[in-house]
Amino acid sequence: MKNRLQWWAEVNDWIPKDQHGFRRGHSGVDNMTGLFLMVENAFRGSRDVLTTFLDVEGAFDNVNVDVLLERLASLGCTRRIVKFVQFVTRERLIFTEGATTAMRLCKGVPQGAVLSPLLLRTTFRSAWEAADPAEGVAALESAIETLGENLDSIGLGISPLKTKLIRFNDRNIQPGRQRIKIREHVVSSCSHTKFLGVIFDYRLSFKEHINYIKKMHLNNEYHEIFVWHILGITPGHSRSTIDAIRIVVETARSAIAACVLAGVLPLDLEADERARLYEIGKREGVLLDRNRTMERMRSLDDWQRRWTGSNKGRWTVKLIPDLKPWVQRKHGEMNYYLTQLLSGHGCFRAYLCRFGHDDLATCPSCPTEDEDAEHVLFRCPRFARERESLWNAAGQPLTSETVVAYMLSSHLGWAAVSSFASTVMKQLRIGERTRHAG
Ligand SMILES: [Zn+2]
Repeated sequence: MKNRLQWWAEVNDWIPKDQHGFRRGHSGVDNMTGLFLMVENAFRGSRDVLTTFLDVEGAFDNVNVDVLLERLASLGCTRRIVKFVQFVTRERLIFTEGATTAMRLCKGVPQGAVLSPLLLRTTFRSAWEAADPAEGVAALESAIETLGENLDSIGLGISPLKTKLIRFNDRNIQPGRQRIKIREHVVSSCSHTKFLGVIFDYRLSFKEHINYIKKMHLNNEYHEIFVWHILGITPGHSRSTIDAIRIVVETARSAIAACVLAGVLPLDLEADERARLYEIGKREGVLLDRNRTMERMRSLDDWQRRWTGSNKGRWTVKLIPDLKPWVQRKHGEMNYYLTQLLSGHGCFRAYLCRFGHDDLATCPSCPTEDEDAEHVLFRCPRFARERESLWNAAGQPLTSETVVAYMLSSHLGWAAVSSFASTVMKQLRIGERTRHAG
């Protein structure tokens, strides 16, 4: 049901282009990058950027279900869908331990249910559309007012006390000197705030964020991984993070390899496929499994053409030239270390050096070779022992043409490569930390 609604929402363009949360093929990274680029661009033109980070009260709990149902119907959803949504929202019963009767809930959308983010977003839509991004306090205040009114109409509200204002500038205008009014509350500008897990400060220096990472990564492996993936920052690194943020953009550009590694059809191809299925269903009056299989094959062929011709993620293309067996495999989970090895994005000096996080691209043991995923997997003598046990398990020396085929051949093959990846990547990581400590 969620997929159908989501597809319907995407196809009918309900969702504003600049909204990224809860969307397939989009992520908070787009949002973060958008803000970063906007401020960076303004600084280049000696302009400031006023930004409010609004807090909406009791989002999931306060959605007015009647308004939601009306909106779905007016957007052209079929009666069956509206009824189903009514069922999951209106007809929720809450059972309390020890009580014999159930309580009925008729406000809000169920938190934690797969549909809820989409339903919530649908209720937000008019609000977002109404708020034009505009510069200047007056524009900002009036935008927030309109947003507030729209939220009111669906049973939600902005919390002025939790709302943050930042005046991004590089002209030494201190925090606290800018004020805006939200209803009867005055909100003063602050120095920094956390947005989607990243601390943005008014100078865009990311100093607070780096300190935060340093504090966290000592005992929080998850955060480390999160930061590595989302920001491309090496924890504990103290160089300008502007470069690091650029990696976000780079990551978005190399998303084609990320989709392949995750085995997820790129969003536009997925949408095309569903549109074709919709047309077939309309024409034939029925949708057969055969139709689905054929259209999926067609999508995979389109994806394959795009993948073969891609100039991004060449290392991954080399390892996984053929998408079908990879995407349709029955075993084999990806993990952090495998992702690094198969994407080439990780603690390899050639990669770190590309983004200014290391001085040299060369391997510490092999002065004539760059330390990249290929060198580490096939040639570097530092990992001869690990390589030998992998070759032994495979029964032959592996090459870039055979390594993924070996992973796909059996659980054992997958596990052997995965174990190689985690041993080697952990060692490279230690090496990198030692270099920076020294
Ligand atoms: Zn080497």
